[in-house]
Amino acid sequence: MDSHVRVRFAPSPTGPLHIGGVRTALYNYLFARKHQGRLILRIEDTDQNRLVAGAEAYIIESLRWCGLSYDEGPDIGGPYGPYRQSERLSLYRQYADQLVARGHAYYAFDSAQELEEMRQRQARAGSDSFQYDAVMRRVMKNSLTLSTAEVQQRLASGAPYVIRALIPEDIEVRFTDLIRGEVVVHSRQLDDKVLFKSDGWPTYHLANVVDDYLMKVTHVIRGEEWLSSTPLHVLLYRFLGWEQHMPHFAHLPLILKPEGTGKLSKRDGDKWGFPVFPLAWTDPETGQITLGYRERGFLPEAVINFLALLGWHPTGNQELFELYELVHDFSLEHIHKGGARFDFDKARWFNHEYLKRRSGEELAALWAQRPSYPHGFSRTYVAQVCELLKHRCSLIEEFDEVGRPFFERPVLTAELKNKLHEHQAAVWLTAFIEALMALEPFSKEALEHMMKSFLKNSGLKAGSIFPVLRLLILGVEQGPSVVDAISILGKEETGARLQHAQKMLQPVAEN
Ligand code: GLU
Repeated sequence: MDSHVRVRFAPSPTGPLHIGGVRTALYNYLFARKHQGRLILRIEDTDQNRLVAGAEAYIIESLRWCGLSYDEGPDIGGPYGPYRQSERLSLYRQYADQLVARGHAYYAFDSAQELEEMRQRQARAGSDSFQYDAVMRRVMKNSLTLSTAEVQQRLASGAPYVIRALIPEDIEVRFTDLIRGEVVVHSRQLDDKVLFKSDGWPTYHLANVVDDYLMKVTHVIRGEEWLSSTPLHVLLYRFLGWEQHMPHFAHLPLILKPEGTGKLSKRDGDKWGFPVFPLAWTDPETGQITLGYRERGFLPEAVINFLALLGWHPTGNQELFELYELVHDFSLEHIHKGGARFDFDKARWFNHEYLKRRSGEELAALWAQRPSYPHGFSRTYVAQVCELLKHRCSLIEEFDEVGRPFFERPVLTAELKNKLHEHQAAVWLTAFIEALMALEPFSKEALEHMMKSFLKNSGLKAGSIFPVLRLLILGVEQGPSVVDAISILGKEETGARLQHAQKMLQPVAEN
C-alpha cells in the first residue's frame, strides 16, 4: 500500500479544535508518514449556520504548533484542491443529480413545519425517535409519493426541496473497520439522510464521500462518532459506482472523561481545571478566553506524546516517544477499541519529562511568552534560574511560583522570624555574611570551598544552617540547593538579602 497512501484530516470550522481532534490529526499524520504517504487538510465547511469566525485559522495554527505538517491543504494548495468545501460547491450537485437519476436518491419537499408535525405525531403515538425512513417516506411529500407531473411542477416553480438518500429496505450493509473488524448494520436502522440541502449546499455526508473519492483518499481515520454514518457512506460509494475506490475505514476510540465514562467535553476541562484545546480560544461572541495547552505551559512534544498514547499502545514499555519515533512505531493494529480515559496528571508527567530535556534558554524563551514573565532581568539570568528549577516543574506556568524567590526578595514574616530564632540564626549570620562578602573572585567553587571551611571553623552542622539560609535567602523551606541558589543570585544580591534579614532579626536577638 505504501507510497500511494493518502489520508485526510477533515475538521469542520465550527469552533476551536478539541484535543480529540488533535489526536485524530496526529494518527492521520503518523499513518501518512509511516507509509510515506500524503496527509491532506480539508476544511469541511458545508454547514454554513455553524461556521465560527477564526476557527479555520485556529485549526491551522494548532496543527503547526503541534508540528503536524500536511502535504495538501487550503493554505498550501495541492493537486486535488480546492481544499475548502465551500470552494468546491459546483462539484457536488452533479453527484446528487446522478444519484436521483439512478434511483438512489429522491427529492423531498416537506417543510420544516411538516417535519415537526410528523415528529410530534410520532411522539404522541409513543415512538421516541422520528426517522425519515422506508416507512415514513411513504407518507411524506417527496418524489416517491407525488406524481411526476407535480414533482416537475414543484421543481420548475422553485419550491424548496432537499435531496435524500434512498436507503434500500432490507439489506445488510457490511464493511471492515481496521480497528473494530467486521461491521454489519441492517438498513432498517438507517434513515434517508439529506444529501443536498434546500440552500444549494451539500450535507457533510455527500461532500465527504465525494471529496474522499476525488481526492483519492485511501484510508479514512476519524473519530468513533462517525462510525454510525459509515454505512451510509458505504452505500454512497456503491450508488455512485465507486466501490472499487472505497477507502479503508478506521474509527478511533473516544477520549473519555477522567471518571472513565462519557465523552470528554469542554465542561470537564472547566470543572477539573485542565485545558481541552491546544491553544487559547477567544469566543467570538462572548469574548471569553479559554486557555489551551500552549498557554498553560505545555510543550507540543509532550502533548503529542500524551495524545499518541491516549488510544494507541506501543509494543514495548516505552512511554516517551519523540514524533519521529511515533512515526516509526505507529500502527493501526495497536489502537484500542475501547475509549481512552483522559488523565491530566499523566499529561503533566509527560510535560515534566520534556521540560527536563529543554535547555534553560529555551525554557526562558517560552516563559517570556507568558504575561507573568519576570521582566527587568537579563535573559541569561532567567535561563539560569530555569535550568536550576526545571526538575521541579511540570508546566511552564509553574516557573511563576517556583521561580519567584529569584526575582523578588522574600518577605520575612513573623512566623519565619520565629523559626529563625529557634535556629539561633543571628548567632552565626554575621560571620557567614562576612565570609561570603570576602569571596573574591566569586564563583561556585569558591563558594563551596567557603561553605566547607565555615562549617569546620564554626563547628555548625550543614543540616542546621542550610535550611535556615534557604529560608533567609529564598523564603522557602523546600527548594534548590543553597549553593546553587547563591551562585545564581550572586554575591551582592545574596549579601543584601542576608543583611536585610539580619536587621530584622537584630532587635529580638539583642533581648
Ligand atoms: N467534518 C467532520 C468533523 O468535523 C469530519 C469527519 C470525517 O473525518 O469524516 O469531524
